[in-house]
Amino acid sequence: MTDMRIGHGYDVHRLAEGRKLILGGVDIPWDCGLLGHSDADVLTHAVMDALLGAAGLGDIGRHFPDTDPAYAGADSLKLLEHVVELLREKGYFVGNVDATILAQQPKLAPHIPTMRDNLARVMGISTDRVNIKATTEEGLGFTGSEEGMAAHAVCLLNKGK
Ligand code: MG
Repeated sequence: MTDMRIGHGYDVHRLAEGRKLILGGVDIPWDCGLLGHSDADVLTHAVMDALLGAAGLGDIGRHFPDTDPAYAGADSLKLLEHVVELLREKGYFVGNVDATILAQQPKLAPHIPTMRDNLARVMGISTDRVNIKATTEEGLGFTGSEEGMAAHAVCLLNKGK
């Protein structure tokens, strides 16, 4: 019998001047970026939390504490690589990931193909198994007022290829 696991992840980061905007490992030209201990890649963080959740492995705060200087400025794709390693140790492989970025600006559509390629490559799956969407929240709330960005992700894991 196939062992399938579903997972959900959600993350938020504050926007700040003088920071890079990194989403799905893509350095997006913009006049501000996300604040965080690591590179603050809110999309990759939500994906990692979905994967860890599906595998019953807790969350990224447990694996990569923001009090640990080892993760200061960390490339979140490297952290994702480690998460995928943890999944493999438990015999899981990623079936698919679907994620949504909530951001008022900038336009993210041109960058989505590269985000998908990056995440798929690190997870060792084909790009068509990684879907990324972006939406505004119509000017409402903290994403609408450009105080921050958020991301949701769901994933399916399978055991035993
Ligand atoms: Mg985060």
